[in-house]
Amino acid sequence: MLQQTQVATVIPYYEAWLRRFPNFASLARASENDVLRAWQGLGYYARARNLHATARAVLQNHRGHFPRSIDRMRRLPGIGEYTAHAVASFAFNQSVPIVEANTARVLARVFNSRKSIDSAAGRKTLWQRAANLCPMSGSRAFNSGLLDLGALICVPRNPKCDLCPVKAFCQAQNPVTLPVRKSRPQTKKLVEAYGLIVRRGRILLERSRHRWRGMWILPPLQFDSSTFQSCPVYKSVFPFTHHRITLAVYRHPAPRKIAPEQQWVQAIEDVPMPSPHRRAIEALIRNDGNFSVQRKQQDDTRRSRQDRNRNAKTRVVPKTDLQMFPCGLYHDHIGN
Ligand code: SF4
Repeated sequence: MLQQTQVATVIPYYEAWLRRFPNFASLARASENDVLRAWQGLGYYARARNLHATARAVLQNHRGHFPRSIDRMRRLPGIGEYTAHAVASFAFNQSVPIVEANTARVLARVFNSRKSIDSAAGRKTLWQRAANLCPMSGSRAFNSGLLDLGALICVPRNPKCDLCPVKAFCQAQNPVTLPVRKSRPQTKKLVEAYGLIVRRGRILLERSRHRWRGMWILPPLQFDSSTFQSCPVYKSVFPFTHHRITLAVYRHPAPRKIAPEQQWVQAIEDVPMPSPHRRAIEALIRNDGNFSVQRKQQDDTRRSRQDRNRNAKTRVVPKTDLQMFPCGLYHDHIGN
């Protein structure tokens, strides 16, 4: 969960995840839909799918016990060198090194290494140095300390060398220039168009087979001059790896026949959706211009009806007067 995500953001997701899936068996039994819904908002959904597959493999191949050997761990879905070493160190206190962004920065600075940390040779050197430093016992505390040193003291822009507990033997001559990395690929701009298609209180969604595989998104639109003559009803910009993507949503008529991967959905809360698409639908609902939401009744006087409809779900209901937003809603999620 912590990949590219801050601890403060992760904590509520982590706690909710453990309440929902307290052990491998509960995770293995869950549907992909439930797993993706629990992960929704954290991004990088391959991690959720891999965790799900790993829980199933642990149950089927390891009698429900997570393997202790690094070789065996690495045969599980989505577990690479770093994750296997982190589990071995933090869960089982094995004497193994870990190298990730924070520890790589500390090691590159302590040894004043100018090898690029994203080259194969640079990574190999870092792992060797980390292995040489790792103590035979107490690796859990050592690796935690190294991570915290990178996160709190040896920070990327203004390392606090005056406070640093290892300054006596740190060889860094100009720490802010370390670690050396290959230049990043240039950010590419993409514009993607999606349809807002509502009919009889339901919205048409499509199960993604690509970027957000298994999650539900607004249906992508092929170029069609009649649609694109109008303004989008909603527009937002969000980052994805090295892309800056403009998501434009256009009102679109309901098709006579829907594709096999599409479905009319009444309760958007019940389906896993990537954040940019959920934000788009929620902003359009909030703005109350194109369609509104009928929620469960809260009013006591209507309790009997509510009781009858105990399982009633949030519904997306189109208004009779379907006006386009003149120039759409615009949200920029880069840097937010
Ligand atoms: S002395 Fe400075 S550069 Fe060296 S490890 Fe400590 S904080 Fe980093």
